Amino acid sequence: MSGVACVTVDLDPLETYLRNRGLDPRSCPRPRAVLTDALPRFLELLETRGIRATFFVVGTDALHPENAALLRDAVGRGHEIANHSHTHPYDLSALSVSEIEAEITAAQDAITAAVGRRPVGFRAPGWNVCPALFRLLESHGYRYDASLVPLPLGRLLPFALPVIKRTGPPIFRNQIAWPNPGHSPYRVDPNTPHRPGESRLREIPGGWQSFPPVPLSSTFSALLGDRISGLWERLAPLVSAPLVYIFHGLDLLDHTTGIAAPLGAAKPGLRDPLDVKVRRVNRILDALGKGRRFVRLQDLG
Ligand SMILES: [Zn+2]
Repeated sequence: MSGVACVTVDLDPLETYLRNRGLDPRSCPRPRAVLTDALPRFLELLETRGIRATFFVVGTDALHPENAALLRDAVGRGHEIANHSHTHPYDLSALSVSEIEAEITAAQDAITAAVGRRPVGFRAPGWNVCPALFRLLESHGYRYDASLVPLPLGRLLPFALPVIKRTGPPIFRNQIAWPNPGHSPYRVDPNTPHRPGESRLREIPGGWQSFPPVPLSSTFSALLGDRISGLWERLAPLVSAPLVYIFHGLDLLDHTTGIAAPLGAAKPGLRDPLDVKVRRVNRILDALGKGRRFVRLQDLG
């Protein structure tokens, strides 16, 4: 065994995708399908492989009694439930400090009530982070954050960021500049979270492989296509840093059940048939597991 791999799944509610694209959130006939359909499929697939994963859950979802039962089932099978904010605001870093704190604590309370266990890890919606977020996570006793993405050419980002902030999508308007945070977990400096510091809070970067620099993320993979994003699968055994893969609930949703009609045109890969999606997830899990053992993020943080 040369290292470890982490399966992480962001269970973003369908409503967040609709809102983000200016579509009517009420246009989705089955708004809870990510929890009711995709989560059980992930659990079944992971169970057959003996993999324990980390699921990032939005607090408002955990409040629903049926969702809470599904999340308890996941915990009963050894998976981790972590905090993905209360309402999934893509502009988290633009909120006031007390609003950011409320996003953390309301989700924490909802998840704790649902599964009987306090979350120890956090991932920001849309990877939208700021120093205040890291200071709050530290003061609330979080063990790790998993929001930073070690993008290739990350060293150029500080130069590109002023332009991206002015002209890019709103989720980047308040983004702090971070050069490449590296690929291995480290203790952060909350004021400059892309750099190592003395905090008890650790950063577990994910979503990109160091060599070749290809995405470990279903979102990026859908944009680049399976052929390019699949490059890492052959070279993964050569990489020593942990491989932290970012799946989304959408990756195992069946578009034919009426849940995704308004999103179909807007979200790459969403309209692939379910059997294609299942094969893709299985292929990724095969590659991640080559010479590696699977751990949850809480086991690294
Ligand atoms: Zn999300």
